[in-house]
Amino acid sequence: MKVRTRFAPSPTGYLHIGGARTALFCWLFARKHGGDFVLRVEDTDRERSTEESVQAILDGMEWLGLDYDEGPFFQTQRYDRYAEIIAQLIESGHAYRCYCSRERIDQMREQAVSEKRKPRYDGTCRHRTEPVEGIEPVIRFKTPLEGSVVIDDLVKGTIEISNEELDDLVICRSDGNPTYNLSVVADDIDMDITHVVRGDDHINNTPRQIHIFNALGATLPKFAHLPMILGDDGKRMSKRHGAVSVTQYKKDGILPHAMLNYLARLGWSHGDQELFSVEELIDLFEIEDCQRSGSVFDNTKLLWVNQQHMAKLSEGELGDQLASELSARETDITTGPEPALLAGVLRERAQSFSEMADQAAIFYTDGVEFEEKAAKKQLRPVALPVLEALAARLGELEPDQWQSTPLKEVLEAMAADMDIGFGKIGQPLRVALTGSGASPDIADTLALIGKAKSMQRISVAIDYVKARAEQS
Ligand code: GLU
Repeated sequence: MKVRTRFAPSPTGYLHIGGARTALFCWLFARKHGGDFVLRVEDTDRERSTEESVQAILDGMEWLGLDYDEGPFFQTQRYDRYAEIIAQLIESGHAYRCYCSRERIDQMREQAVSEKRKPRYDGTCRHRTEPVEGIEPVIRFKTPLEGSVVIDDLVKGTIEISNEELDDLVICRSDGNPTYNLSVVADDIDMDITHVVRGDDHINNTPRQIHIFNALGATLPKFAHLPMILGDDGKRMSKRHGAVSVTQYKKDGILPHAMLNYLARLGWSHGDQELFSVEELIDLFEIEDCQRSGSVFDNTKLLWVNQQHMAKLSEGELGDQLASELSARETDITTGPEPALLAGVLRERAQSFSEMADQAAIFYTDGVEFEEKAAKKQLRPVALPVLEALAARLGELEPDQWQSTPLKEVLEAMAADMDIGFGKIGQPLRVALTGSGASPDIADTLALIGKAKSMQRISVAIDYVKARAEQS
């Protein structure tokens, strides 16, 4: 038997974290077992489904590298097939037309609620043989009245639901549109899905779907329901918890492999290993190792995982990512250092490419703005002789000396000559060059900014200190 999984998103928004995690687990399971991964777009909710959402889902999956072997299939293109299956169910006595009015159904529901009973359809139309004039019926599935359904869930274990809990669900609305449970089963049968891997928010639908599979004489797939992803307040992850669209993480400079690694750990583990390559994930993934309860989305950990993956990249690869992040921000990278060189010194200091690009910005600007706090502390009158000495000593250097090692030697020699600690030179120089008190190694910073820009920034800082001295 060839394993076949499917990812079945409803295109009513972007690809969110929960959806991406489901897609990943379906994909990993298929890849691990040499099977097929099918993409099916469940666009039957015509009001809420949009082209943009379909595109956002496709883009998100492409970015993550979750390639599918078949699809995308669209449910709205399969209405004829659903109609056929509905007719088949009526024919075989597993479904019936229901003419009960909305009012009657609502009344039944209200009464049940007031009596603290679970609302359920009372089966009035089960035995009706004649149509009711002037009413377009819905079609209901005839749920067995006795017995129970047992789900041997690969994640949750055995779950038994008594049929008394389930009522005769609507499988086709009066306008002829099939409902979710019907179209899903029709598709899972036609697409030969062997393993249904999805969020546990669908677990209530599973017994109903199993009944439909059985009524159609189809082989049941295996089910695996994944626990929810929670926000830090323990509630189901939603927009309220900040960025939940996968493309947002792309924009934030997260590597797709790091995202996959982090998503995999949301609900799955392999011992206490935290970092995985994609190949390792495929190799080690066992659906039985998924946890049963929800896992909390932790942005700090995602950034840590991302940094670990960034550390594995070569300078060239880091540089390419940095360059694309900078050009997305319309930074002209020809006005500063090679992104690869800069990425090499920033790699230890940034957890994402977006953070790296923030730190890279001052290497491509004409001048810098001094941060108030840093300037107050470092660009004081005592720094004037230091900055002036820097202007003189650095000004003498030949272009081939403008490199990290010789620059470092010059700064160290200056500290010795002036009989002051290295920080007394490094810190004012850092603020002069970058506007802030934090930057990579100061000699690297000088080297990457280049002689002309560095000299100009030192001279601006000197004027700043002088103006400040005059004011006080
Ligand atoms: N379309 C459903 C959703 O997006 C998924 C259905 C399924 O996986 O069975 O929640």
